[in-house]
Formats: sequence, C-alpha cells, structure tokens
Amino acid sequence: MNLDKTKLLRNIPAVDRILKNERIETLLSNYSYSLVRECTRKVLNRLRDKILKGYVSQIDEDKIVEEIEKSLNQRYSLRPVINATGVVIHTNLGRAILPDEAIKHVIEIATSYSNLEYDLEKGQRGKRYVHIVDAIKKIADVSGAVVVNNNAGAVFLCLNTLARGKEVIVSRGELVEIGGSFRIPDVMTQSGAILKEVGTTNKTRLSDYENAINENTAFLLKVHRSNFKIVGFTEEVSIRELSNLGKQKGIPVMVDLGSGCFIDLKRYGFFTEPSVQEVVREGADIVTFSGDKLLGGAQAGFIIGRDDLIEQISKNPLMRALRVDKMTLAALEATLMLYLDEKEAIEKIPTLRMIVESPEKIKNRALKILRMFKKEGIDATLKEDVSMPGGGSLPENGIKTYVVAIKTTQTEEFIKKLRKTEPPVIARIKEDFVIFDVRTLQEKEIPLLVKAIKQVL
Ligand SMILES: *Cc1c(COP(=O)(O)O)cnc(C)c1O
Repeated sequence: MNLDKTKLLRNIPAVDRILKNERIETLLSNYSYSLVRECTRKVLNRLRDKILKGYVSQIDEDKIVEEIEKSLNQRYSLRPVINATGVVIHTNLGRAILPDEAIKHVIEIATSYSNLEYDLEKGQRGKRYVHIVDAIKKIADVSGAVVVNNNAGAVFLCLNTLARGKEVIVSRGELVEIGGSFRIPDVMTQSGAILKEVGTTNKTRLSDYENAINENTAFLLKVHRSNFKIVGFTEEVSIRELSNLGKQKGIPVMVDLGSGCFIDLKRYGFFTEPSVQEVVREGADIVTFSGDKLLGGAQAGFIIGRDDLIEQISKNPLMRALRVDKMTLAALEATLMLYLDEKEAIEKIPTLRMIVESPEKIKNRALKILRMFKKEGIDATLKEDVSMPGGGSLPENGIKTYVVAIKTTQTEEFIKKLRKTEPPVIARIKEDFVIFDVRTLQEKEIPLLVKAIKQVL
C-alpha cells in the first residue's frame, strides 16, 4: 500500500470524535444515540473503502458529517420523493397526498386508544364503520355504505357476496386490466361469479344485455374503462339505460367507477368524469370506487348504494379479511368532512387542488422557480405542456400545464442522478429537455428541488 493511503487511513476520525461534532450533537436531539452511532460507523467504513480504492485524496470532516446526515435521512426504505411528473394520481408514487386535517386526525387516533369499535353511549362493543358511514351517505345521497381495504377488494367482495355461482353480465368493451394484476375476468373467476360477456369490443347495445338475462343472472356490471379509450365506430349503454333495464327485470346494476369523485368536475372544465352522485342519480344500485384516487384520501374501497345490498355485503365473512385499519378510517373521516363544503374540499384536498389548479397559477409558480434557478445559476426555460391527471380518470389527452425545462445532451443521465438526490426527484424527458411539471410540485418542495438540481449539475 502506498504511503498516502496509509496516512489517510490513519487520519480517519474516530467514531467518538465525530459524535462530539457540533452538528452531530444537534442531530442527537432528533435521533437516538445508537442510530446516529450506527450511521457514523457506516459512513466511516465507506470512507475507508474509498481510500483503499484510491478515490479519496484528503479527509474532510464536514463532508463526513454531511454524509451522516444524508444516511440518517435515508435510513428508511419508504421515503418521500418530489413528483415533478405532473401525474397527480401516480400509483407508483403513492397516489393521494393526504390533507393536513387527515394527518392530524391520524396522529390523534394512532397515538391514543379510541372508540374504534366501542359504543360510548351504551358502554359496549360498537361498529368499526359507523365513524364514516353517515358522512358517506350524506355526501353521496345513498341509503347504504361500507368501506374495505381498496377498490379491488370492494369489487371482489360485491361479486363474491351477490354473484357466487351466478352470472354477471359485462360488456366485452369493459373487460379491463387495471394496474398490474387487477383484471376483471380474473377477479370474477376468483370471486366465484360467472362472467357473461356481451356485445363486442367496440359496440354493446341494450338488447345485448337484455338477451343475456336469465334466471341465474346476479347483476349487470358496468366498469369504468379508466386507462384506455375506445374511439371510432362505437356504442355503449349508459348507466341510466342499464338501470332502467335492471329495474324492469328486478336485477341490480353495479358500477365500478374506479376513481370516484364527490365533486362535479364539469364545473371546472372536466367533462369526461361523472361524479359519484351523478352515477347514483342515474340509478346504479351499487357503486364502487377508490379512496385514494380522485377522492384524495387514504387507500380504501368504497361500496355504496342500496342499503339491503350493502347489508348483505357487510355480512360476508370476507369483510374481516378486507377490513380497514383505524388510521385509514381516521384519514377518511377527516377527508370526507372536507366534502361537506365544496370550496373547502377543493382548497384543502391536495389531489383536487392540483387537478383543478389553473394554468395561470401554475405559470406563476413556474416563474418563481425560474427566478430561484437564475439566482443559483441554473439555466432553464418556461414551457407550456400537458399534465396527465392519472389514476384512470379525467381527460386522456391531458390538461394544460407549465413546466420548467432544462436543456441537456444527457437527459437520461440527468434524470437518473435526480433519482439519487435527497429527496429524490422524479422528472420527465421531452426531446432534449428534462422537464419539471409544476402542477404536482408543492410549495414546500421548491427549495429542495432547486438544491437537488444544483447538486446534479
Ligand atoms: C383503480 C381501479 C380499480 C382498483 O382500485 P384500487 O383502489 O387500486 O384497488 C378497480 N377498478 C377500476 C375501474 C379502477 O380504475
């Protein structure tokens, strides 16, 4: 080994010495002693390796401390990231950001015992779902409601309860696959229901449903296409027509909405997404949707509609396997409460706020970011672009947005490095630019974004 390396190795500071560093001492008020010591050891070991490989020419204590801070920040596998993709409901990035009200309620409930399943009036066992059912019934104007772990579970439970060994009629144009492994035909098989496909991929008529109905029909199912569109020579049956047929034949109609929204987004210029209330008004007997897509709350599957059907579903023993946790209930209760006032919902539920935010407001934020970039010597430009709302909802063609764009010959390299900053930044590539869609950037993340980009450049 050469002399330099030996000298460097000898000069690696001792763990105890680092632990007495002023900045590390401040860290000790936030983290346990053993955790900080563990991270310090790890960083010093890494430094030793680097010296041996000849990557280090001098020892810098400030840099060591910085590495320890970074290592503490990254001690968890599940970490926050900055979503600069513009995809508001991004399943890979955790879907909805919870409203502050929900976070507060979760903390309160998670750090105390609660009346989760305890009736305070009677002093005896109570029901888990009472805490949110009334709010859902009021908001959606339905007689029954229950909640399970996610919407896939909701659809499964409905099929298993109402259609085991019986037929469910679905249009061939709606036999969708959502996300990785949720395929309507497969869920159907697993639930014990028998799939009765009708129509063709592009055209399904009311008579197709009508002709398929027999004494073994459990219900008619309509599935929101969510992540694709059928265009051209097409025809489909509306919920209204389908429920009229159902009522005439005494057969329930279920709609799997996927991304259920309690706000009429048409008022905000989004014409493709029916609200939950609208679907109920059109006559659906059961509607299922997610808690963490357009609703903007915690992961959950809502099953709402006719109380006699909801009651049967609630009695299915599988309810126990699909039940939601108290933290989810707390988050949902607080989120639902925001829906009692539409203006409040739009302002305080991040998912809704980001989706309806006007391009002008986004542009202003983009300009602010550009000014900060300029101060830091980062060269970037403002560009108009389109955001994809995601989550299988809203316009497939995207909504107008503004992005800040950095031109580079190494776009791939750039976004790869951005994924390794603290916090990691997830950006998009468009032609020779790395672009940051300002729609999904939160105010508090802007300084972190600037820092991350500066670091990478
Ligand atoms: C997203 C979606 C689901 C699955 O919902 P999860 O809450 O992710 O389980 C089911 N059906 C439709 C139509 C969807 O869009």
